[in-house]
Amino acid sequence: MLSKIEKLKEKLELKPEHELEIQSYTKQLLSQNKNFYQQIQRWGKRHCSGYLLPGHELLLDGFYEAVIGGEYQENLYTVVYRQTLNWYQLGLGDTDAVLLYNKVRQLVTSYGNSFGYSRLAYLLNQVVDLCISLSVEVRTLLFKMVHIKQAAEYESQRINQVFSILSSNLPSDLVKAYVKHQSWKYQVFALALGQGLDTVVEPLPIESCHLTRWLKEDNYRSVERKTFDALHERAHELSTIIVHQAAEHRPEQVSLYLQEFEQTSEELGRLLLECLEKHIAQMATHDQLTKLLNRTTLEAKFSRERALAQRLEQTLGFMLIDIDHFKKVNDEYGHFVGDMLLVEFAQLLVQHARMTDRVFRWGGEEFVVFGMLEPDAAQGMQQFAERIRQAVEQAEFCKQMKALQVTVSVGVVEFPASSELSLQRVFAQADTLLYQAKQQGRNQVQAAFL
Ligand code: GH3
Ligand code: MG
Ligand code: MG
Repeated sequence: MLSKIEKLKEKLELKPEHELEIQSYTKQLLSQNKNFYQQIQRWGKRHCSGYLLPGHELLLDGFYEAVIGGEYQENLYTVVYRQTLNWYQLGLGDTDAVLLYNKVRQLVTSYGNSFGYSRLAYLLNQVVDLCISLSVEVRTLLFKMVHIKQAAEYESQRINQVFSILSSNLPSDLVKAYVKHQSWKYQVFALALGQGLDTVVEPLPIESCHLTRWLKEDNYRSVERKTFDALHERAHELSTIIVHQAAEHRPEQVSLYLQEFEQTSEELGRLLLECLEKHIAQMATHDQLTKLLNRTTLEAKFSRERALAQRLEQTLGFMLIDIDHFKKVNDEYGHFVGDMLLVEFAQLLVQHARMTDRVFRWGGEEFVVFGMLEPDAAQGMQQFAERIRQAVEQAEFCKQMKALQVTVSVGVVEFPASSELSLQRVFAQADTLLYQAKQQGRNQVQAAFL
């Protein structure tokens, strides 16, 4: 913002020697301060009484002194920021603010002229113009902050909602970091807008940050990691500076650092949200226990695979696998062990599947595998199902707790892709065959060619 003042001064052709000229009249100008504030108050009563609460002035202390001070650096930005913030809080609109500056202009012009040095009036007019330009900048900034504050509030509500629906499945450190970051931003923007100046906002220490914890587990693998870490550290540094400035009741300083904080946090937030969205998308398509593809994705994958097989004039194989007497595992060893068995069972299926096979958890203890068949009959789905059946029969599950053995019943359907069978039809057929396998004593494969 400092450089902004310099740029504005350049455009207004307000040079250091002009500031010195004003300074040489400061004493005389200071003698007018009582008159200045009285005149403004009178003007305010006449034109802006709707905005003025009892005991509130249209101009804050120090405004006149800053205008005639002859040194226009950060001090002027501070005064204009606070003044603009004050008008914003009072609800004073842009038009009235311009008219009020016009009144200020009239007064300083008359003081300048009254000393018999007309150039002084001209120079003070330049200063009023500088104040107006700064005020416009601050006003724009304030509106931007209102917007960002609302966005941060909305964003933390949204993520909180998603989190409460999917809480057990989302990476909680990441969600907490994201929400904390958003709600902190929301509070600090409120401070810079002069709302909740009594609120105590704590800095965000990097050591105890949830994001740091999440990153330590090496969850964020990206070539951009270095940039990400630098952004993350800077955000925490800025949070300390901002909280310090807020504690000193310097909203204008808060606003300066907030601009940098916002750029940093926007980039960080974007990367974090990307990670969260990837997780959410993964949850929609995958079973959270076994990490296999879920039932929802089966239809789409089936159509795609069938279309490809059609083009290649291939045969497709589809199997429905059900663990025998699985209920007993739960009943005897509890659900936790049952879950563990399901996870290990899924791994066994994936290990045995070919690269081109797709493995799904249909639900409960039922799984689906399908894929194109090799032209060689020995690679047929029925043989493949038999290999799985044998592998399961020989495997020991949940070895850390108790070595468990289970068997499976499988229904297998093979069909040429050109027959355009629907998933429903194929599934129903596989289900019938599975039922037969159960009826005929379990631990077996029943197959049909359609
Ligand atoms: P069958 O040989 O006829 O298939 O008998 P079964 O006991 O395997 O079949 P049933 O349909 O009677 O029971 C399936 C059991 O699977 C009941 C249910 O509690 C359990 N189950 C389903 N989903 C899960 C899960 O995610 N975790 C655990 N631990 N158990 C599950
Ligand atoms: Mg079942
Ligand atoms: Mg079963």
